[in-house]
Amino acid sequence: MKNSKTGFLLIFRNIIPAVIIAAGFFSCRNPSSTSDVISFEAMNTFMSIKCFGKKASMANKAAKSKILQTEKLISVTDTESQIFKINNSSDTESLLTEELDFLISQSLDAAVKTNGAFNPFLYPITKEWGFTTKNYHVPNDARIKELLPLTDYNKAHKKGNVLFKAPGMQLDFGGIGKGFAGDLAIETLKENGISSAVLDLGGNIQLLGKKPDGNDWNIGLRNPWKADAEPVFALKLSDCAVITSGGYERFFTGDDGKEYIHIFDGKTGRSVDNELVSVTIITKKGITGDLLSTALFVMGKEKAMDFWKKSPDYDFEMILLCKDNSAVLSEGIEKRITKLADFSKIEICKKQ
Ligand code: ADP
Ligand code: MG
Repeated sequence: MKNSKTGFLLIFRNIIPAVIIAAGFFSCRNPSSTSDVISFEAMNTFMSIKCFGKKASMANKAAKSKILQTEKLISVTDTESQIFKINNSSDTESLLTEELDFLISQSLDAAVKTNGAFNPFLYPITKEWGFTTKNYHVPNDARIKELLPLTDYNKAHKKGNVLFKAPGMQLDFGGIGKGFAGDLAIETLKENGISSAVLDLGGNIQLLGKKPDGNDWNIGLRNPWKADAEPVFALKLSDCAVITSGGYERFFTGDDGKEYIHIFDGKTGRSVDNELVSVTIITKKGITGDLLSTALFVMGKEKAMDFWKKSPDYDFEMILLCKDNSAVLSEGIEKRITKLADFSKIEICKKQ
C-alpha cells in the first residue's frame, strides 16, 4: 500500500522557494516576520500553509487548529468524532451541529447532482476493502451485494438539522473532508487579517488572494505517470481551489496482482478502474473541488466531459490526465496553462 500523499500539486521551487511539497518546510520564528509557514500531519496526509501578513504566525496556528478540529469532527476512526458516533449508533436520527449540517447538505446534494458518482455513504464499502482498517482485500460478489443497499443515499435525508438514515448506513467524508477543512482554514486566515496565502493540504491546493506582489500564484501540476518527474503543467491562478483525485498514491495490490485504488464506484461497490489517472478541478471553493474531483474520477473521461459541458449546478474548470498519456483541458483553463511535458494528445473540452 502506498500512502505517501506529499501533494499532487506543487508550487514551483524557483518561484516560491518556501512553500514546497514534502520535506524541508520551515517555520518563521521571528514574531515580526510578515510571512509564516506551518507544516503538520492531519487527515492522514501532510499539510502546509504559507501565509503573508503581520499576524501570519498567529493566523497559521489558528488555521491549523481549525483543520485539526475539523478532522476531529469527521474522522471515521476517532471514537470521539461526531461521524463515528453517527456511524455506530443504532439510532436512525442524528442531530447535526452547524458544520456537519452544512457538510451533509452539500454531500447529499452532490450525490443527486452527480447521479451517485459522489456518494457520502460509501463507508460500508471502503471499510470492507480495508482502506480504513488497513486489512486490504478484495471482497467477493456476495459480500458486495450484501453491502451495496447500505450505501443508497436515497435512503437518507435531512429535515432541519436532523439527519435521517436507514439502519446500517455509514458516512465517509474522505472525498470531501480536506476541501471542506481548507475552506474553513481560509475563513480562519481571513478572520486573522490575512489576504494572501497558499494551502497545500495533501495535494489539495487552496489559494487565498494573490501573491503579496499582486501577481497570480504559479502552480505546478505533478506528473502522475512518473514519480519525481517535473510538473506536467504550470497554472497561473489566484483565489481558488485546485483539487486533484487520482489512484496512483493510495492503492493496494490484490492477490491477483491487480492494483485497487481508494476511489469507488458506488453502483458496483468496486474500486474504480477506467482510462483516467487523475482529475484536477479548479473552482472557487475547496469543498466543491474536492467532491467534483472524486465524482469526475468515478465518471470516467467521457461522462466527466459531458458533465462539465452540461452541468448547470457547478462552475468549474478541469484537467483530466489519462492512462494513454493524453490530457483533456476545459476551455476556461486553457489560457492559464503552460505545457511542460509531452503528451500523446491534448483535447480541449468546449461548451459547444
Ligand atoms: P484523496 O483523498 O486522495 O485526495 P479523493 O478526494 O478522491 O482523494 O477522496 C477519496 C476518498 O473518498 C476515499 O478514500 C474514500 O474515503 C472516499 N470515496 C471513495 N469513493 C468515493 C465516492 N465515489 N464518493 C465519495 N467518496 C468516495
Ligand atoms: Mg475529493
